[in-house]
Amino acid sequence: MSRALTAVAGISLLILLLILLVGSSGPVTDRWVAAGFVGETAGLRSTDLRPAVAPLIGILLNEGQYGGSATSSDGRLQIKWLGGETTIEAPVEWMAAADVIHIGDRQWKQKIWIRSLSGEMQIADRYHEGWVEWIPESDGSGWQMIERLSIERYLLGVVSREMSASSFPAAALRAQAIAARSYALFQMEARGRGRSYDLRGDTRSQAYGGTARVPKPVLDAVEQTRGQILLWQEKLFESFYHSTCGGQTCSAAESYFIRDVPTMPSVRCDGCQGSRFFRWSEPVPRPHLADSLAYLCQGTGIHLGEISTVTAVGAARSGHVPYLRIDHTLGSFEVDSKRLRTILRSRGDHRLRSTNFVVEPSSSGFLFSGRGWGHGIGMCQVGAQGYARRGANEIWILQHYYPGVEIRSLW
Ligand SMILES: [Zn+2]
Repeated sequence: MSRALTAVAGISLLILLLILLVGSSGPVTDRWVAAGFVGETAGLRSTDLRPAVAPLIGILLNEGQYGGSATSSDGRLQIKWLGGETTIEAPVEWMAAADVIHIGDRQWKQKIWIRSLSGEMQIADRYHEGWVEWIPESDGSGWQMIERLSIERYLLGVVSREMSASSFPAAALRAQAIAARSYALFQMEARGRGRSYDLRGDTRSQAYGGTARVPKPVLDAVEQTRGQILLWQEKLFESFYHSTCGGQTCSAAESYFIRDVPTMPSVRCDGCQGSRFFRWSEPVPRPHLADSLAYLCQGTGIHLGEISTVTAVGAARSGHVPYLRIDHTLGSFEVDSKRLRTILRSRGDHRLRSTNFVVEPSSSGFLFSGRGWGHGIGMCQVGAQGYARRGANEIWILQHYYPGVEIRSLW
């Protein structure tokens, strides 16, 4: 870890210790002033944009009732709660039940903090250097597992999960760091203060793997872009990104799930042509499609007959299909293609990598032929990799996918 990042870690630890001392449950974000932002919360605009310090951010790692094991690189875990602390040997099994959390042979009913005594702690597939909190839900339904840290350290765990440091050039990693920093800031502002966490530590917000074991190229990318964010007309925006666009990104306007943001139009991309998901096809057997559609029809009053045709409805310029019309022997209806994509995977492991597809009948059912992986909006990560390999820097990459943006250092 570089000296600067070590300093950031030290400052974060001090702030975290202050939180522990006062028993605060919310992230400390008062010491920075963000830009206004556009998009889903366009009513809350402000042009008051001043340099500040990196904010603390709260990441939800898990919630509800769940269990697992915790390991520590030094074989010991430190546990604190208001009024006490202890050190136990690791690895140890733990279980977050309805209103009690068990760790080894101990149990708590109040908020606790846990960390490796002097090294790194592994819980599930994440590696943590600092404290992780377990907070009981007020309704006794389980526990929120949250890590609070500087946004700069958080980004180490995001960039290393969103891109492979071994195959993505430095410029692509820097573009990812700036886009992810901007996305996180937007989410923090849009969600507002006073919540127990700001973002989820998975792809519902951004993938996050903890701050330990971060490859050197990722440490460099985050450090070299420290404080840099994307602004469009002096405002933050929800800087979406995705794996592979398949040749043309999907505009925010066409996305049919976020509001239009002019700086996320549909742009051509030839950076991702080498991806194995640039084009894909997925045969879906008729019984499996029928099973998935029947599942989606539950509670709707629709009785599914024999499927006759499946037709894409309202395809965007980029090719993304919002709805599919299902004609069957008892009638017809339209289904949300994103929802169908999720159900096809969960009920039979048929993967439509994106909603950018055409569908046609085949001998055994239906053949989905598509492009790209993900929602297709904003920066194409594999495209960024391709352009960086050809020599593009992070500014070119970001301005290609987010035309009109300015990159500004906030801290
Ligand atoms: Zn692309």
